[in-house]
Amino acid sequence: MDMTSLLYNKVHAFILLLILSCPYKIIQKPIDFGSLNLIQITDTASTDFGWIQFNAPASVLKPRTPNDIAFLLSFLSVSSFSKVSVSARGAGHSIHGQAQALDGIVIEMSSLPMDINVHKNVKMERSGLMISYVDVSGGALWIDVLKESLKFGLTPRSWTDYLYLTIGGTLSNGGISGQTFKYGPQISNVLQLEVVTGKGEMVTCSPTKSSELFYAVLGGLGQFGIITRARILLQETPKKVRWQRAFYDDFDTFTKDQEILISMAELIDYVEGFVVLNEHSLKSSSVAFPANLNFNPKFVLNGRFKVYYCIEFAIHDNQAEGIKVEKVVEEIAQKLSYMQSHLYSVEISYFDFLNRVGMEEQSLRNKGLWEVPHPWLNLFVPRSGIKKFMDLLMENISPNEFEGPILVYPLLIDKWNTNASVALPETIESRTDRVMYVVGMLRSINPAVCKRDCLNKILRKHRYIAQTATGPHIGAKQYLAHHPSPVDWHSHFGSKWIQFAERKVQFDPLHILGPGQGIFS
Ligand code: FAD
Repeated sequence: MDMTSLLYNKVHAFILLLILSCPYKIIQKPIDFGSLNLIQITDTASTDFGWIQFNAPASVLKPRTPNDIAFLLSFLSVSSFSKVSVSARGAGHSIHGQAQALDGIVIEMSSLPMDINVHKNVKMERSGLMISYVDVSGGALWIDVLKESLKFGLTPRSWTDYLYLTIGGTLSNGGISGQTFKYGPQISNVLQLEVVTGKGEMVTCSPTKSSELFYAVLGGLGQFGIITRARILLQETPKKVRWQRAFYDDFDTFTKDQEILISMAELIDYVEGFVVLNEHSLKSSSVAFPANLNFNPKFVLNGRFKVYYCIEFAIHDNQAEGIKVEKVVEEIAQKLSYMQSHLYSVEISYFDFLNRVGMEEQSLRNKGLWEVPHPWLNLFVPRSGIKKFMDLLMENISPNEFEGPILVYPLLIDKWNTNASVALPETIESRTDRVMYVVGMLRSINPAVCKRDCLNKILRKHRYIAQTATGPHIGAKQYLAHHPSPVDWHSHFGSKWIQFAERKVQFDPLHILGPGQGIFS
């Protein structure tokens, strides 16, 4: 940037600050702040997938380059007379306004050019190892990374269930799915990041370069910097995927078998599971699974609700000579104790397998049930507390009314880098036990049936479940957490709080970034 344009930008940013600190809303029309593409607010900037909180910003930045973000943050961080907060917004698939900035500035990351550059078989300088990776902008969607890397016969290793999320959005949380037991969360598969800190500094960081910032940002809930670029590890794409579902009528057998499966990482590529509460959860979970299910269980037995469980696991089929995937599935199935004759198996393309929730989205959109409130609750539960947690859950929901999946599947704690910012269970048992469970209550609310009062009741119930589960009796931690006050965040981070707070002082001392999380204010 030359001196004239720097001065020009400073003058415009000064006007911006005056506007943002003015008690009256005088932003009436799109504004041209020199090179900064700041506009009047957009509809999307104050909403998200949760449809629970709607906080309008004062303005929206549509950056054309990472420099725009650096410029805005460096200016805001040296001006002490106005406290303007800034949130990066990826795809806005948060639940509780985490990417919103009340009266502040929302940066729409999708405006950055969607650069996706795949590098195949590159020799690493230090180790001499050959690796493949993709360099991608922070606002790109995972679905686009998949499409581009498939052109090279490559793919990221670790996924989320849904692919219409941004790189920056999931790396700010963790990014988990059925591959996490094998490769760790998405944040364990990042080689390098380009980050703009809350001070406006543009830093390239990695495990060996500016590592404190690198680990702070991974799982850092948008508190330390804005991810403008990421380098993600790739592997070869499988030709096909063999996808299995097995049904259970007993929780202990279900989890025991899940743990058997994750102990066979050399054979198995994906393990998840869900609770089958009612007809609806059976039908809706089958949208993308192209097999004829001959499973018609009784959901009421002797006047009481009966709950079932489903494990899903998948094996990549590289169609290599001499290896028959059916045979491998048979061998694995012999080690499992599912309900007799209720193992179902299909073979589908790798893309369709990864994009399975995209199909469910389409089905929900067709029924007008996508843009509705989603009071979701996600938790990491230590293995020692999973049974108690399920009892707590079942005491607090009505199985016949619940709409949406309840996911339950195991992860391995040692696949997570403890230096990253994510809070994991800290019970004494989980310090020695490798296994923890993720439980996701992914509820959809039909607003025609459940109005605001009813939604508030559900939210209160979830708060109660979360508070009880995160107490010492169970020792869970919220994932994609939402807490009512900074004090609750303090206990969320537990022994990691001091490090988290020190990193904030180091990288965003004026607390400009990530107001929607409510961690520091
Ligand atoms: P946003 O909601 O836009 O932002 C989330 C947070 O990240 C905000 O605090 C925001 O300020 C910050 N942020 C966004 N971009 C950046 C950036 N570039 N740099 C720094 N901070 C940034 N999660 C899983 O782990 N596994 C799943 O299987 C999974 N499935 C999902 C399915 C659906 C249908 C939905 C709606 C969500 C799912 N999620 C899952 C949750 C999802 O990973 C998080 O909500 C994630 O934050 C969404 O990404 P986003 O791009 O929409 O982020």
